[in-house]
Amino acid sequence: MIEYSNIQLSITNNNYSLMITQKPGTGTIIKEAFRLGIVIPGFNIPYLPMMEPVIRALRDTGTFGLIMVARLEWIKFKSGSMKTIRNEYEKLKDLNFTRLHLDHVPVIDEDNLLTDFENIISEAIDLGYDSVMIDGSRLSLEENINQTRKIVDIAHKSDIPVEAELGAVMGHESGPLPPYEELFATGKGFTSSDEAKRFVQETQTDWLSVAIGNIHGAISAATRSEKKIEARLAIPHLKKINETIEIPLVLHGGTGIGKEYLMQSFKNGIAKINIATAIRQPYEKLMNISVKEAQEAVYKEMLDIINNQLEIAGSAGKILAK
Ligand SMILES: [Zn+2]
Repeated sequence: MIEYSNIQLSITNNNYSLMITQKPGTGTIIKEAFRLGIVIPGFNIPYLPMMEPVIRALRDTGTFGLIMVARLEWIKFKSGSMKTIRNEYEKLKDLNFTRLHLDHVPVIDEDNLLTDFENIISEAIDLGYDSVMIDGSRLSLEENINQTRKIVDIAHKSDIPVEAELGAVMGHESGPLPPYEELFATGKGFTSSDEAKRFVQETQTDWLSVAIGNIHGAISAATRSEKKIEARLAIPHLKKINETIEIPLVLHGGTGIGKEYLMQSFKNGIAKINIATAIRQPYEKLMNISVKEAQEAVYKEMLDIINNQLEIAGSAGKILAK
């Protein structure tokens, strides 16, 4: 059975009528955000109790956001499983402000192992996830195209939009990161606009995660509490990609990027930004003392992200206005 989480059932008892309202899907919402130059943040949930303060902050500020889980968060962290996350989301969701997204399902994972990505993504679609990501970025261009195309075919049959990745957004791999300045100066691993053009044409992916200087927060147990390095973005490079492919672009590793870079990126095609480290670290600092206090720390950080770092408070009204 396929469940759609963007359908709302309501019964009004004065005239005994049953109302079925279909809320816009994530594909429509991201397209509208892209058109308006407003960014939609996606928040990773590595620990289940983090979801409540994230949704509460979105609702309290009238802001639209995605609740996300990545494969490594049920393997290396404590999010449980795709089903646990889905069940918690069903309890807490507010369709005026949230949708559920499956983040990174890598074909080759951070430990260099081949995953069961096709089954994982199919299961997510059956569970009612509103959008999915396939990450073939550790493959050759040719193979990334082949595997992404396969997932797009599966997902589009259920009207589910797909995010894919091209280029290398480093940081999740075990082992040390190459020196950041060297990465940025050489543009090594940056998404090529020519390759992106071919990739989008041949895969029909809905959104593309790009590498333009952004990096993921460290996830190994030894390094996950360290302060993330401040990354920069190659805005002219992003501009070129945006002019070449004209689909919504996604910025991973959203924590710790200078604000002036972020603001420029939202004007140049970035319609979704992934945020993980910024809300995970305050939670981890307090979770063994008090879950309640840890949740409040997440809520406080959420308000700062929405109001000050991204300046998107009230975005739901603009994006869902139609
Ligand atoms: Zn990512």
